[in-house]
Amino acid sequence: MKFSFVTLFANIVEGYFNDSILKRAIEKELVSIKYVDPREFSINKHHKVDDTAVGGGAGMVMNPQPLFDALDSLTTQDPDVHIVFLTPVAKQFKQNDAKRLAKKSHVAFVSGRYEGIDERVVEKYADEVYSIGDYILTGGELPSMVMCDAIARNVEGVLGNAASLEIESFETPLLEAPSFSKPTNYKEIEVPKEYIKGNHSKIRTLKIALSECKTKFFRPEQLKKHKLRKSYEK
Ligand code: SAM
Repeated sequence: MKFSFVTLFANIVEGYFNDSILKRAIEKELVSIKYVDPREFSINKHHKVDDTAVGGGAGMVMNPQPLFDALDSLTTQDPDVHIVFLTPVAKQFKQNDAKRLAKKSHVAFVSGRYEGIDERVVEKYADEVYSIGDYILTGGELPSMVMCDAIARNVEGVLGNAASLEIESFETPLLEAPSFSKPTNYKEIEVPKEYIKGNHSKIRTLKIALSECKTKFFRPEQLKKHKLRKSYEK
């Protein structure tokens, strides 16, 4: 799967792909990353990419011309590219979106900076628009990386153990049960005894109970969904 980052600050993004799971995914050619710098498309003699807001208002807005040309070039090279804009006002990106977008062949993230992007660019090119939460960041690079990471781990082969995807939180209304590592007794704090005894059926029952407790605490509305689903299954 291809990812393109349309950004004025590729250097912020690049480092993230130089380690761990995503680095291996790139080496295995499961994922490829490309950067598109709108500044390179600017016809302004100083390669300017922003200007003051028409009608007044604080701060600078990203000009349409460099982004129109950058995105035209991207869509000419790959008509199947799926273009996602990052903006704090949009609907929040969720795990279901990550799974759905992982089926695309090419996703491009367009990062705003300053006060944001001229709305005409979004109107013309956006296939989808996402926020990663109700707060304002200085640019779209972090949200793009968040989305790319969440999508890429759903691309077949990226995670060494695909089973880990199935049990993760947000796959079902129940959050994942607590995990423990070794040693089983660390500084006199023990992991639950049932986890150690090796009876898989009992471990599974305990994990479901712990998942329900965790969901009740962190996401009570999801526990309601889980109980409703269980009552339908009966
Ligand atoms: N003036 C804009 C507003 O009030 O809605 C905020 C612009 S923000 C400083 C600059 C850029 O950062 C945005 O164009 C967007 O690409 C990105 N951004 C900031 N916060 C974000 C969030 N929570 N989710 C997604 N993108 C965000």
